[in-house]
Amino acid sequence: MPKSFLIDTSRCTACRGCQIACKEWHELPANKTTQYHWGSHQNPQDLNPYNYKLVRFSEHLEDGVVRWNFFPDQCRHCEVPPCKELGDVYIDGAILKDEKTGAVIFTEKTKGFTKEQAGEVRDACPYNIPRRNDETGLMSKCTMCNERIHAGMPPACVKACPTGTMNFGDREEMLALGKQRLELLKKKWPKAMLADPDDVNVIYLLIDEPAKYHDHAVAEANVGPMSKKQFLATLTRPFKAMKA
Ligand code: SF4
Ligand code: SF4
Repeated sequence: MPKSFLIDTSRCTACRGCQIACKEWHELPANKTTQYHWGSHQNPQDLNPYNYKLVRFSEHLEDGVVRWNFFPDQCRHCEVPPCKELGDVYIDGAILKDEKTGAVIFTEKTKGFTKEQAGEVRDACPYNIPRRNDETGLMSKCTMCNERIHAGMPPACVKACPTGTMNFGDREEMLALGKQRLELLKKKWPKAMLADPDDVNVIYLLIDEPAKYHDHAVAEANVGPMSKKQFLATLTRPFKAMKA
């Protein structure tokens, strides 16, 4: 049965345990960063080839009160992933979907994308997730810790989370938990919502408007996951005639 995450942002304290656990499990090197340099405690400033996971900080003023919203950003493992739809056009099998777990995996074959093609694959993602390592050409992002799941273990970020923000399990179980938590949170936070639950396997529970978390907290209305036919119909490049 496909797996899903429920990321309950109402419980996130921005401890960044998930972010560090992800780096440790994947043996990703540190980024050189400067804290406070750009007016936020968010660190690093953006996803990059060495950060598959990033706790985003969003600060805003509401009725004279400063509010901080935290958003542990990562690949959504889309039900119909547009990154794979386009990637297959350039190099078949460079991006895989494990139908057993639902994980969308970027392979070593992504090194074969030109810089322009990699940019288009990133643009195809409704959540602005994949990043290219300009030194190696490899594109990368969250793997769902697929190897851990096949070995009966939870993803590293879920295992490390001490607050109950990060939840993982069978899709139906996560959807049910999301609906149950939503019902409860709506009493205090009427704007609470589940972000794109029908389209993705990483479901965020938000208690505020999506824009108050992150520009790509939900898919743009015109870029969401779509069928291959629909997706190719949106392209204007020469390969459309060859592959459509
Ligand atoms: S979130 Fe982006 S990178 Fe992840 S599966 Fe969906 S389209 Fe691909
Ligand atoms: S599932 Fe694994 S790869 Fe994805 S963000 Fe969590 S720790 Fe990182």
